[in-house]
Amino acid sequence: MDHVGLFTADREKYRALAGAWVTPESLRCVQCGVCAFNCPMGIDVRRHVWRGEPVTESACLTCGECVQRCPRGLLRFEPFAPARREGRGG
Ligand code: SF4
Ligand code: SF4
Repeated sequence: MDHVGLFTADREKYRALAGAWVTPESLRCVQCGVCAFNCPMGIDVRRHVWRGEPVTESACLTCGECVQRCPRGLLRFEPFAPARREGRGG
């Protein structure tokens, strides 16, 4: 990963800590499964992308691994609404 990539990744992690879901841009997904394969929590990120839904599992660490690993750059952190934050322990 180059420096620009690292910077982007760190910025994404920072945004995640502020409270965000991993959110897909589903239309360009090739269903390669790299995102799910690299998730340390075993979350089926690919399925979320297929369904066009953000990763809302409480198990998500917002580690940003899936965001960094997607070869097409389709995943990003999007802030979630306060009402939906309940149940995530935050
Ligand atoms: S890594 Fe990217 S392209 Fe591959 S399944 Fe996940 S979201 Fe789709
Ligand atoms: S942010 Fe981390 S824990 Fe959450 S779905 Fe992506 S890889 Fe898994």
